[in-house]
Amino acid sequence: MRLKKKRGMFMPSSAPLFNVGGKILQTIKDNGYEAFFVGGCVRDFLLQRKINDIDICTSAPPELVMTLFSRTIPTGLQHGTVTVLLEEEMFEVTTYRTESGYQDHRRPDAVRFVSDLREDLLRRDFTINAMAMDEQYNIMDYFQGQEDLSNCVIRAVGNPLQRFEEDALRILRAVRFSCQLGFDIEEQTLLAMQGTVQGLQYVSFERKVNEWMKCFRSPHVTKGLSYLQDLRVFEDIAPFSTFETGYQQLFHYPLTDLDETERWLLLFRLTPQPKPIILDFLKKSNMDKHTKQILTTEYELACDQPGLQDVNHIPHKALLELGVPAIVRLLKLNQLLELGEWDHRLGDRVKHRHKALPIHRKKDLAIDGHDVVQAINKPAGPWIQCMLEDALEKVLNRVLPNEKDALLDEIKRQLRTEKRDAHE
Ligand code: ATP
Ligand code: MG
Repeated sequence: MRLKKKRGMFMPSSAPLFNVGGKILQTIKDNGYEAFFVGGCVRDFLLQRKINDIDICTSAPPELVMTLFSRTIPTGLQHGTVTVLLEEEMFEVTTYRTESGYQDHRRPDAVRFVSDLREDLLRRDFTINAMAMDEQYNIMDYFQGQEDLSNCVIRAVGNPLQRFEEDALRILRAVRFSCQLGFDIEEQTLLAMQGTVQGLQYVSFERKVNEWMKCFRSPHVTKGLSYLQDLRVFEDIAPFSTFETGYQQLFHYPLTDLDETERWLLLFRLTPQPKPIILDFLKKSNMDKHTKQILTTEYELACDQPGLQDVNHIPHKALLELGVPAIVRLLKLNQLLELGEWDHRLGDRVKHRHKALPIHRKKDLAIDGHDVVQAINKPAGPWIQCMLEDALEKVLNRVLPNEKDALLDEIKRQLRTEKRDAHE
């Protein structure tokens, strides 16, 4: 592949991170051991992709690595991993090792520290992930990883069947990298994946969903879906079997025009599963809290308002409480499911309606519970919340101005009416 690795010719945006990491490599080398950047960071450097974290491999034993740096965390000493903190950055430094056993199809029974870089690279999953690099940006590539990168191919290191039998999660990792990079899976590798797919039953739900999350937010998501369909993963493997029908239908939709949240919501809506099953899936999945919350709220909203398509029919209160992005997503998906397309001016239209609201946040209402308690001589109780909700509704619908006196007068009036009705 045409490598832009010569210093001065190409300055990657991740250069500062590599510069800090380079100091770690240098310190280890000064102490008589080898050390390299390794794995995903080398792959992403060569692809000029954004680099999130840098892994380092070394011939130095973990106990020694712990002594070479002032700030370290013994992340996984049995597996040889020490986290080194340097200049506000974190680096995982792992001693060269081989793995053996894999009786449970997901974890090695034993790891053995070795002194040879090649042996360490040999245990890694794909050729594009099995390269190392020194601080001069020189690449150590024993398995034609650079060639596979330039041919946009994902290929297992070594015997593919054996590699997937060892760890079935690699099947989903291959699919995930194909989604992220837009790469094809090499023929023998794909055949081996097909032959070992049953092993996925030994992989935990969380790890599978985790890979899925990454696929779902990837630019080439449809590519991954095709592989999963080929692999018949949907049919056999929980949690995918839950959503099988939904997955099959996703192919009919322009997924690349949808963001990650929209893709999940679309999947849930295409799945003929009862609402509690979807909510339970969300509860159990290890999505981050924020994503989980958004998906849960918006899925429930979609269940309540499956037919709503017109911006003008959105209740003011829903617009205020849920905000513009959630409403745009609801309308977009409703239109997509109903009409096969959506109005691309939706975003502007919803924003315009939101802007025209008399208030833009619930807390901008001119009264709160405290004001109500002070103004009205009645023991506090759930009635206060009801009155506040009612006041909000009236302000949003411009029945009343957002003024303290007007709102409190209205509450007093309502309470008087209620009292009179109760007496009659
Ligand atoms: P990203 O961090 O973008 O998800 P990555 O390639 O860095 O991608 P990690 O899961 O961080 O992936 O793993 C770091 C490296 O460890 C990989 O590049 C690969 O060399 C190796 N690796 C990770 N998981 C496995 C696995 N299941 N089998 C074999 N090697 C693995
Ligand atoms: Mg990584």
